[in-house]
Amino acid sequence: MPLPEPIITLTAALAKLPGVGPRSAERIALHLVQAETAQVKHLAETILMARERIRFCETCGGLTEKSPCATCTDDRRDAAIVCVVERAVDILSIEKSGAFRGKFHVLGGKISPLDGVEPDDLRIGDLEKRLAAEPIKEIIIALGTDVEGDATSSYLAKRLARAGLKISRIGFGLPAGSGLEFADELTLDRALEGRREMH
Ligand SMILES: [Zn+2]
Repeated sequence: MPLPEPIITLTAALAKLPGVGPRSAERIALHLVQAETAQVKHLAETILMARERIRFCETCGGLTEKSPCATCTDDRRDAAIVCVVERAVDILSIEKSGAFRGKFHVLGGKISPLDGVEPDDLRIGDLEKRLAAEPIKEIIIALGTDVEGDATSSYLAKRLARAGLKISRIGFGLPAGSGLEFADELTLDRALEGRREMH
């Protein structure tokens, strides 16, 4: 007997989620169609509510309910240092390490001509505006150590170079080819300590 169509549709939708393979998707779908209606309704409403309330901070590009976000408006953080990351979730990785007390800037990707990602597709212009408006003395580039991460870091170091601005990069302590999500707290801590100035 084939699975009823609504279960197949639900399984297909769940399988699109990150980290959910076809088997897990089917298991979750089968669980949901047998669960209390109120419980499923609560889950659906929670997902929708989270999606509707979360947006990107206009300043740093991080995930927030309110823009500018709490990190951007926190006076106890060092406004002179900005850590540049690829994705909003990378901020969460660095925050978990507790090793960084400056501000952040999300690029929204890495330069990758093969995938059609050009510098104009990234939030580099926004970063230049911040350099003009904020008391930034150092940029720490924290992109992955893959080919695109290297190329993007070099591009940024050249484009952002200006008098009185130090530009450094971490990533040397991170496993080669990995994104920040794979870095444990100690590794990130060490990477930040050992950041190297780019020329
Ligand atoms: Zn922000």
